Amino acid sequence: MELIAKYGKEDLAILYIAKNQGKIVEFVESLQPPIPREKKWVLIISTMYGCPIGCMMCDAGEFYHGKISKDDMMKEIDLMIRSRFPDGKVPITKFKIQFARMGEPTLNEEVLDLLKELPSTYEAPGLMPCISTIAPKGSEEFLENLIKIKDKYYSKGNFQLQFSIHSTNEETRSKWMSPNIWTIEEIGKYGEKWFKEGDRKVTLNFAVAKDSEIDPDIILKYCDPSKYWIKLTPVNPTEKAIYNKLKSGITEENSESVSLVQEFKERGFEASISIGEWEENDIGTNCGQFATKYQNGEVKIKETYTTTNYAFTE
Ligand code: SF4
Repeated sequence: MELIAKYGKEDLAILYIAKNQGKIVEFVESLQPPIPREKKWVLIISTMYGCPIGCMMCDAGEFYHGKISKDDMMKEIDLMIRSRFPDGKVPITKFKIQFARMGEPTLNEEVLDLLKELPSTYEAPGLMPCISTIAPKGSEEFLENLIKIKDKYYSKGNFQLQFSIHSTNEETRSKWMSPNIWTIEEIGKYGEKWFKEGDRKVTLNFAVAKDSEIDPDIILKYCDPSKYWIKLTPVNPTEKAIYNKLKSGITEENSESVSLVQEFKERGFEASISIGEWEENDIGTNCGQFATKYQNGEVKIKETYTTTNYAFTE
């Protein structure tokens, strides 16, 4: 894997672009200001070259050139870890590795092998893998095996699982993501099998658009508030979201006042708005944005990567 560029800000988020067997892969390291790196560091890796799903708000689905092998996913992680911790010892309280960049992780079975290897590869007591999935049909075996891996290697709350829900209207969910996904009812049943004493609650993520249909009573019908928590996020201004005219229902101005949070709380859920850093939108670190532009020849990398060179031109 050849690192060809990196772009971003040391104190917020850095996007890495690499080339592997002629294919482009992107991965990110980020901080959550004002929390210092010693307390929390988040790596976000790709599990596929592009994505075959093609969700309405995600630029990663603009192309698909196959799954990334276990060893190459490990290289994404290794590159970011060794640049700061050459000995592989990561003394960070909360060290998250999110399988949430380009690709649907549950369609890449080598993700499971990687999850088994991570704890013995690095000395990282704060390690917490996070899988974010739309729960496509065909992921049943993966998700069953994931329960066993979580229980064996990441018990006591050291694993985070997130489902993309986005709407409580199944037709809208089909349109936004794919018709071939689990229903909310199926996700609710899976959560019952997943959750053990001491685990982190399963996250139900809603990217809230202006006209989103989100009915907390439907979620309550299928999902037990003691096992799920609700995360509301803005619809990021990706090329795809703009093309599909998806406007965010959560903006910098109104993020404090979204009443949905209260509605979920009244039904016993823990719920919050997670806006990330608005500046990240300017940096362009939303999924697949740079890789897509690079594939399309819209972004040229000026010079070969050096440690100080954030070299993109548009
Ligand atoms: S949101 Fe996930 S599943 Fe959907 S296109 Fe993007 S990477 Fe693929």
